[in-house]
Amino acid sequence: MSALDEVPLAQPVLGEREEELVLEVLRSGQLSLGPRVPAFEQAFAAFVGAPHGSAVSSGTAGLHLGLRAAGVTDGDEVVTSPFSFVASANAVIFERARPVFADIDPRTLNLDPQAAEAALTERTTAVLPVHIFGYPADVPAFERFGLPIVEDACEALGARHADGVAVGARGHAASFGFYANKQLTTGEGGMVLTGDPAVKARMDSERNQGRAPDMGWLDHDRLGFNYRMTDLQAAIGIAQVERLAGMLADRKRVAGWYRERLAPLATELGLGLPCEDSGGDERGWFVWVVQVPHGVDRDATIRALREHGVQSKPYLPAIHLMSFYRERYGHREGEFPVCEDIAARSVALPFFPDMAESQVDRVESALRTVLRAS
Ligand SMILES: *Cc1c(COP(=O)(O)O)cnc(C)c1O
Repeated sequence: MSALDEVPLAQPVLGEREEELVLEVLRSGQLSLGPRVPAFEQAFAAFVGAPHGSAVSSGTAGLHLGLRAAGVTDGDEVVTSPFSFVASANAVIFERARPVFADIDPRTLNLDPQAAEAALTERTTAVLPVHIFGYPADVPAFERFGLPIVEDACEALGARHADGVAVGARGHAASFGFYANKQLTTGEGGMVLTGDPAVKARMDSERNQGRAPDMGWLDHDRLGFNYRMTDLQAAIGIAQVERLAGMLADRKRVAGWYRERLAPLATELGLGLPCEDSGGDERGWFVWVVQVPHGVDRDATIRALREHGVQSKPYLPAIHLMSFYRERYGHREGEFPVCEDIAARSVALPFFPDMAESQVDRVESALRTVLRAS
């Protein structure tokens, strides 16, 4: 690649196998409610090590169905992280419940169990931990609250808890997302893993307008949605599961190059790096997010990186400070200081399985130049 080519932020791995399986579906004439969806569900659940999977149209749809299956309803409170993609909190509001935020752990950037415990009230009916940037949230600690848990595992495919259980395979409803930048993509799509066959049956029905599996075309015994995944998406998903172990290994290799190249910038300039795996927890690499040193203008850093041909973006903004959440719940600065500090300094760097070592070098040298100048 020439020095003038931009290093993109993300890039999916798609090949002949995806083309072949999508073509089969096109030629079969059955584009939805066909055999590919259950085949993808089984392959994905088996890969992670969970008993059941319910494929849906997005990770957000999966969170919504998971919260419904957990019984979350009007006026309930769900304790969750303010440092997440907005979908995890929005899904709570879909059920007319309230997302109650608690601050994050400064090392893992995940919901802090002690802060979460302090946020519990008699109206709390569920906890929604987010495995942010693929690092396992402390789900075992949340299990001790004795409340239903719905996991946002949308960024955590390939992650593992210290006790050896894969993220998403603890039996709680755990939603994964398959947008094009995720570890596995179907274009758009999602999957909820669960250990409970009744939860699987309920989600299968609710994604399809509330129809029971043995019911006729237009009979419905409960409220439902159209959260179906198409067979075209499922076909891509099957091909992606086949190459998943390789893609995850590739991400891990790229992450290692980043760790090695950027460690000096952490020591010399105070750049914040993703935490290393600790205590047996294993990250499933999704993004490479750094925090610019205190006092450095994050948005100016992103503009300057762009001038050096490196794409990057602010990732993630604090949910409670978004205008919708401020207006609806009266949130303001200062409520969750760890989250606010991290959110204000975070930058996602280019990161994808096929990233070349020379591209990581270009990011490092651009970042070094930009930080030295600021
Ligand atoms: C991607 C993502 C989602 C939503 O996934 P969609 O498939 O885009 O609906 C939810 N939560 C987190 C943390 C995510 O990264």
